[in-house]
Amino acid sequence: MSINNTSAIILNVTPYRETSCILKLFSPEYGLITGIAKGVKKLKSRREPLERGFHINLTVYLKNNRDINTVSNIHIIDFFPGIRNNLQKTAIRDITFELIITSIINYNPQKELYSILLKFLSQLEQLSEIDILYILLWRFFLKFADISGFGPDFSQCIYCGTPVKESSYLLINKGGISCRNCCKNDFRNSDFLIPERLLYVLASSILQYDNIPAFGSAELLRITRLAVSYCRYHLDIHREFKSLNFLENLFLSETNCTCLHIGF
Ligand SMILES: [Zn+2]
Repeated sequence: MSINNTSAIILNVTPYRETSCILKLFSPEYGLITGIAKGVKKLKSRREPLERGFHINLTVYLKNNRDINTVSNIHIIDFFPGIRNNLQKTAIRDITFELIITSIINYNPQKELYSILLKFLSQLEQLSEIDILYILLWRFFLKFADISGFGPDFSQCIYCGTPVKESSYLLINKGGISCRNCCKNDFRNSDFLIPERLLYVLASSILQYDNIPAFGSAELLRITRLAVSYCRYHLDIHREFKSLNFLENLFLSETNCTCLHIGF
């Protein structure tokens, strides 16, 4: 067994017996880990119950060949109240969490992805314009694909090599885009279309908040589905994303959604 202090993002919390809970954690040193926090619910010193999305410090007692480790000394660094109190933001956050839970291998260091996730959460916390929140989500997926080795090339048409400056089709299985002239297969379908204004936003290295195009609800959902489909294909994830269905329900019932709850 080794005893390690680390920081982590809580990706999921499952109550366990009367006073404990099982945490699914994402940490820079160990990637995805599952830990049982014993007695954590009866601590009088803890004002905030542990929840999904918290950024914490903790001690992990790693045991070889164990699926569940013991964790203790949990201190909350940030509980991101701006995300926590906003259903739209929690829905967007949960899609990134589900991507990590379904694809990251346990106990592998993930320092780059961890810092991208932390930056994403702090931007999600601070910003409020709905179109910007979704662009943050899509850019997160793009960075995730890049560091996982299957980032799509948006610079030129995969067939004719022409620099792409207009709306194009994402060819999921080929990891690139096709101009309208070349795209003659099943992907010539509006589900796979990347609008010109979005290509520009995704390709720029720094996001300019004052030059963000507006998307309607249907378009926000369509492009989010496309981003998830792209990663699911390349990571060989067969199950549907529950967080995506949650988002769809959220859009369908925007005025009456307080009863919605999601569990991975
Ligand atoms: Zn072409």
